[in-house]
Amino acid sequence: MRTHSGVLGMKRRDFLGSLGGSLVGLAGVGAAVSACGGEKSPAGSSPIVSAQKKIRWRLASSFPRSLDTIFGAAEFMAERVSAMTDGAFDIRVYPGGELVPGLAVLDAVQNRTVQIGQTCSYYYTGKNPALAFDTCVPFGMTARQQSAWLGEGGGGELMAKVFSDFGVRSFSSGNTGAQMGGWFKEELSGLEGLKGLRIRIPGLGGDVMSALGASVQVIAGGEIYPALERGAIDATEWVGPYDDEKLGFYKVAKNYYYPGWWEPGPAMSIYVGEAAWASLPARYKEILKSAIQEAGVEMQRRYDARNPAALKRILAHGVSLRPFSEDLMEGAFAASTQILEDYAAADAGYAEIYKHWRASRADQFKFFSTAELAYAKFAYPRAL
Ligand code: CA
Repeated sequence: MRTHSGVLGMKRRDFLGSLGGSLVGLAGVGAAVSACGGEKSPAGSSPIVSAQKKIRWRLASSFPRSLDTIFGAAEFMAERVSAMTDGAFDIRVYPGGELVPGLAVLDAVQNRTVQIGQTCSYYYTGKNPALAFDTCVPFGMTARQQSAWLGEGGGGELMAKVFSDFGVRSFSSGNTGAQMGGWFKEELSGLEGLKGLRIRIPGLGGDVMSALGASVQVIAGGEIYPALERGAIDATEWVGPYDDEKLGFYKVAKNYYYPGWWEPGPAMSIYVGEAAWASLPARYKEILKSAIQEAGVEMQRRYDARNPAALKRILAHGVSLRPFSEDLMEGAFAASTQILEDYAAADAGYAEIYKHWRASRADQFKFFSTAELAYAKFAYPRAL
């Protein structure tokens, strides 16, 4: 799958050369005459060829190529769009930092630097804290529950109001599933063990860790390993076994904790600028929506297929798998709830989304506490 997408990506790149605009006129002019015909040239004398519009978009991703499950899903989406339009709708995919910095994708789509982006909305909570609900918040919903809330449960409509301020349409596309708690050099002594602990963890999870006494560091992906190795930090979170293995944390920290309660089901997003969206023919809109959904399924499938094997390999390196203690989880839950409540108290727009989300989470948790949970609690340990 990866080789396949790499080849296609290369072809697309070579073909496009230095082009990179949006609508670049008609493809196949002179090669095919439309069955309808009848159109007149601007001069009004001879019929012109009516061919399929050739559309070229640039996609800015927040993610590096190395995250091949996430970044690979954007490439997968572009390939599907191209295949379903016989190559007429071409989306060239750029990793974070190539066109714009990884955390500037919302700005780039908003400013029309690119037509489309792949990112996580919780990167932009500095612009509007409620954007976190488009991705996930600590002790939020799982991947399936988040997908249900955004796609069917009314969450998407609430988020669309937030995105309209940015001239952007957000489509949920993929999820990592519940993340791991991360890598700790020493075994944690419960909630008390977080006091003064230097941990790399961004976003709301970091705010909760701070509230619990940890010394929170925000370090970019490539710099985490050396910081952990030389002891500049005591712990780090990242994603889950498949992605964590690639960064090699198991070599320098031997305690692998779970769960990543701050990211129980983070939803990735595809952003499309409203102007770019409006410029699309109706059929291409439908194709793009389908490809985005398909890519989302593909991302989750890749994670679910690759994480188990990666976890086995990691454990073979002498790593201890450890659950966070009950008191740490209780403390984190209380601190998380307080942070969300504080935001809601300060902002009516946030409160509207929060209350809707909280009620949906309660309904989801109640339902998932029945068949799903009972089955997992009984069958998982026995099958091991
Ligand atoms: Ca993470």
